[in-house]
Amino acid sequence: MNNVTSILTDTHGRTHNYLRISLSEKCNLRCTYCMPHDGIPLSPRANLMTADEIEAFAKVFVANGVDKIRLTGGEPLVRKDFSDILRRLSNLPVRLSITTNALLTHRYIENFKRYGLNDINVSLDSLDAEKFKLITRRDQYKKAFENINQLVTEGFHVKINAVLMKDFNEDEIVDFIKLTKNQDINVRFIEFMPFDGNEWNKNKLVSEAEIINRVTNYFGIEALKPLANEQNFTARNFKIEGFKGSFGIISSVTNPFCDSCNRIRLTADGKLKNCLFSNEETNLLKAFRKGEKLEDLIDLALNNKKAVRAGMTDFNQLTNPDLHNNNRSMIAIGG
Ligand code: SAM
Ligand code: SF4
Repeated sequence: MNNVTSILTDTHGRTHNYLRISLSEKCNLRCTYCMPHDGIPLSPRANLMTADEIEAFAKVFVANGVDKIRLTGGEPLVRKDFSDILRRLSNLPVRLSITTNALLTHRYIENFKRYGLNDINVSLDSLDAEKFKLITRRDQYKKAFENINQLVTEGFHVKINAVLMKDFNEDEIVDFIKLTKNQDINVRFIEFMPFDGNEWNKNKLVSEAEIINRVTNYFGIEALKPLANEQNFTARNFKIEGFKGSFGIISSVTNPFCDSCNRIRLTADGKLKNCLFSNEETNLLKAFRKGEKLEDLIDLALNNKKAVRAGMTDFNQLTNPDLHNNNRSMIAIGG
């Protein structure tokens, strides 16, 4: 149980003990589902949170019950002062984790260990170098795969995130699951979500039923073992009998996990987002720089959080571009 104060409790009774902080709007990859073709307008440097500000904000959230912080982005490891930020946050009573594309993880292995960051989620959407290049617009498959193996060998708790897209990588589902045969990793298949400029289309979704179908066709129905749900789970987890690792399905679009949502997000320019799908943002950085207290603003933002996907209660609303086009690209939110 966590000790979340009323400030981080919303009107639906959900307590928010999990803060995701985006450290950068920049990235060394250009994934098509995340980064619009022409990039995004970057915030002027002066509008981004400094390491001091990140630490100060984290302290306010921790004082109100946050006990888990994930560093994300853009790519969090492109930030030059990443290790300094990690060191500062490691002094707080929180479980630290990161989501990264793994291209730079080899530089940070020692600091991850020194500052107690053990949970590493890595994005990898294809096991085929050519497809990796197509989706990321960069020829970096070898480095990413090498670094993921290094993280596993070094004993980190690794999850691989693969965004599934129809007619692109759904034929790799079985290959991804085979990675869990001899390695204790968790592969998570993520539904492609709509954001500004990412050419989302509901026909590109791969449903949970289709994933399970492919799995059972290949491994057999008896081999598929559902696992118990974690607290505040976002993935339905399974494993193949006898395999060391497991796999999960994150269906944020067709079957969201809003009831048990405990997440809040801070963008690199210091704005609080109460929901990934919401285009409302609360500018904490501006208030902080004016010397204002943050608690009332945070309280208000949480009280405005809708029960389900920023108020888009049914699938048809979600497929209406007018309702999600004002929501920034994932790269600017911090996934
Ligand atoms: N650069 C890091 C990475 O790629 O892991 C961290 C940031 S990235 C925005 C965080 C996560 O968001 C990744 O796992 C990525 O696959 C996911 N993501 C980005 N755009 C998405 C979309 N449109 N639908 C589903 N997941 C998305
Ligand atoms: Fe970069 Fe991650 Fe977005 Fe890919 S998903 S463009 S690696 S931030």
